[in-house]
Formats: sequence, C-alpha cells, structure tokens
Amino acid sequence: HAKHNGRNDYSFFEPAMNVDARAQLKLLHELRLGIEREELVLHFQPKFCASTGAPMGAEALVRWQHPELGLLAPDRFIGLAEQAGLITRIDEWVLNAAARQLQAWRAAGHTTWQVAVNISGLHVRHHGLVGHVRDVLARYDLPAQNLAIEITETMAVRDAEAIAMLEELAALGVCLSIDDFGSGYSSLSYIKRLPVRELKIDRSFISEVCAGGIDAAIVASVVTLGRALNLRVVAEGIEDAEQQALLSELGCDVLQGFWLGRPVPASQFLASGQPAVEAVPTA
Ligand code: C2E
Ligand code: MG
Ligand code: MG
Ligand code: MG
Repeated sequence: HAKHNGRNDYSFFEPAMNVDARAQLKLLHELRLGIEREELVLHFQPKFCASTGAPMGAEALVRWQHPELGLLAPDRFIGLAEQAGLITRIDEWVLNAAARQLQAWRAAGHTTWQVAVNISGLHVRHHGLVGHVRDVLARYDLPAQNLAIEITETMAVRDAEAIAMLEELAALGVCLSIDDFGSGYSSLSYIKRLPVRELKIDRSFISEVCAGGIDAAIVASVVTLGRALNLRVVAEGIEDAEQQALLSELGCDVLQGFWLGRPVPASQFLASGQPAVEAVPTA
C-alpha cells in the first residue's frame, strides 16, 4: 500500500499497480457507460432437434460493441462485470432483449421456438431475478416454457437460498438448464435437488468425442442419466459432421455448434435459412 508521504504518494503507488489491473479498471468504467449507451448486442446461435433436424430456437449470447476495441466476446467482460456487481444489469438487459426477439419470431410464426439466456450464478442469488423474469414474460406476452435459463454450476448456486430461487423460477414455468454440465462443480445430488429440465454437456467432452476415448462414454452416461431423470440432453460445441452423427447416435436430444450454425445477429438468423442438420457451414 502507498504511504501518505506527500508528493511521492502517486509515484510510489503507480508503478506498483499492475498494467493489467489498470486496463481492467478502464474497461470497467467503459462498461458502465457502455451499458447505458446501449452498446451491448445479442447474437443468437441455433439449436436443432437431433432426430428431425428441425430448428428449436436459439441461445442468446451477449457481445459488447466497444467504441474502440470492436466487438468483444463475453469472456472479456462477464467476469469483470461479476466482480464489480454489474452482472445483474447485463443479464437483465439480455433477458429483455432476448424476450423481445422471441416475441418477434413468434409473430413470424415460430411459435414453438425456445430462446435461452445465460444467467450468472451470482445473479441467481439476486432477489430481483424472479420478478424480472415474470415482468419480461408479461411484457412480451410469452409462454414461460418458451424461455430457457442456462445456469453454469458454480458454488454460487449451491446453497439453500439459491436453490429456493431456482425453484421459484421453475414454478413460473421457464425451462432451467444446467450449462457446461460435467465440468466444475457438477454433482449428482445437486442435480437431484434442482428443478432442472435440461443438461447441456460441456464442450470439453464434445471436442474429442470421436477419438474413441472416455469422452464418448461420458456423453453416453449423461444421456442415460438424462433419460432416467426425464431431462433433455443437449450437446453444444459441435464442429463437424462426424461429431454431429456420433452425438445423435449416442442419444443427445438437441444439437448446437459452429458446424450447425454460428452465433449471429437476429437480422441474419432467419436469413441464414434455418440450416438443415446436414447443412454445410458457410465459414
Ligand atoms: P456458454 O453459455 O457455454 O456458451 C457457449 C459458448 O460456446 C459461446 O461462446 C459460443 O459462441 C461458443 N460456441 C458455440 N458453438 C461452438 C463450437 O462449435 N465451437 C466452439 N469452439 N465454440 C462454440 P461465447 O458467446 O463467447 O460465450 C461464452 C460464455 O459467456 C458462455 O458460455 C456463457 O457462459 C457466457 N455468456 C454469454 N452470454 C452471456 C450473458 O448474456 N450473460 C451471462 N451471465 N453470461 C453469458
Ligand atoms: Mg449457455
Ligand atoms: Mg456451455
Ligand atoms: Mg460457459
């Protein structure tokens, strides 16, 4: 810590302060402004029924259109927002924008589509969340089951308080999904206690699923678990035709990945022509 010793104060402190930390502080300041200036944007990545190939809706993924740095991926600012207590505002913005888009798709005839949003584990503990979800459903006149909420397992969602909140969300009728399932803090007793409807297998098990190692066995076990618990099993991060074929063979219900469709702005989502499962990616 800097000592209060007159004019040397600043120069004493400044070199000691990590360049990275300063950059992060600057970014945080810009993020606060950026949220107000509506610089956040949503991209939508399609999800497909594994057996029919029909599009089932999309996952909304946030990006930040930074005035100088360009389009930033969530990894660049979500962690920062969580640390700084800004995540609630981001997730609320996302929830509203995704619901608005779902309403537009429903009006265009896609009434069975489901849109998923990612909610931070920290936000799940926030008392405003359930009310906000309820407001958004009413505002855009949406059936609750057409909205999915993806939660990554972290310590933050393991205590009784967080579980009570998830139960309230489930009671509204929204589809709760465990994201990145199998990584981090997964435990089976936890799955049993939570009112979830969907398991999204972590991408790390998908990337080498065709290599003939343990990953295919893990995917098959998650599918069996999902069946036994009456949960939908989603494979995300599918990057080629071989993975697609194997994952549907293993019994995953829903498929998602760059091979089937990249995250794109809503304006390109329909134009991308609701690619069939066999579609060859353009990129
Ligand atoms: P996630 O929810 O697990 O989202 C999947 C991530 O994998 C997305 O990255 C997506 O673009 C990427 N992805 C999809 N298909 C493929 C593929 O075939 N190959 C590869 N390599 N990657 C694929 P993205 O958009 O950068 O998001 C990263 C994470 O940031 C998300 O992981 C989610 O945890 C978080 N996130 C995104 N949007 C939000 C949000 O609105 N709120 C919160 N709290 N977190 C968000
Ligand atoms: Mg997700
Ligand atoms: Mg995931
Ligand atoms: Mg994730």
